[in-house]
Amino acid sequence: MRALSSADILRVWEGGASQHPLDRALTLLTVTGERRTDLARLPIGERDRRLWELREATFGSAVEALTQCPACGGRIEFQFSVSDVRVPCCDARMAEPELIDEDWCIRFRLPGSRDLAAIATASGPSRAEAELAAQCLVSAGRNGSESSTAEVPHDVWEAMQRKMSELDPQAEVSFALSCPICRHEWHALFDIAEFLWTEITTFARRLLREVDLLARAYGWSEREILTLSPARRQGYLELASA
Ligand SMILES: [Zn+2]
Repeated sequence: MRALSSADILRVWEGGASQHPLDRALTLLTVTGERRTDLARLPIGERDRRLWELREATFGSAVEALTQCPACGGRIEFQFSVSDVRVPCCDARMAEPELIDEDWCIRFRLPGSRDLAAIATASGPSRAEAELAAQCLVSAGRNGSESSTAEVPHDVWEAMQRKMSELDPQAEVSFALSCPICRHEWHALFDIAEFLWTEITTFARRLLREVDLLARAYGWSEREILTLSPARRQGYLELASA
């Protein structure tokens, strides 16, 4: 995975600013040259594995994250490395897995961006989970005969959802945190798509300020300023501000 250049960062920031978070994640990955429709089919864990790689290539492997204690609202900072959370690639996860549960045989696919987009308007988390499971069901059979979605019993749906999580562990990264203020302990989910987007936004705004300053000082175009190496740009910024 190559790092995003300064020009890439401004381009994805401009393109993603008005998009839904699911689309933004894909916009970030289209920089790799892959088609958006192909990226939308990737299981969320595979999408996230690529986002972690993009993050590491662009901003490095050290991550400093910030969250809020759900009990007292205190600010919690925690640090980790991308290698601590990255799950190795596994081609088997791309296929349509099978679940055998007593006399039921279920084939499904792991949820991707297009599946999450299809259930985005579902009312409530339990409704969304049920709609997502139905969306990802490829076929259902009982004792060798094909069955409809409506015939699949609740416990088989639940087993299928558990298997989806097991087969795509990169889709859910969480941290066991403890609040230093009130001692509350909890598991915090970490959304790489949201985190990387926030970093891109901060970096893009900084770039705009730098372009503004250098364009005023030297009369260079945006394109000329963005092609300067970061070290050279920083050098001119210091001279322009002296
Ligand atoms: Zn607390």
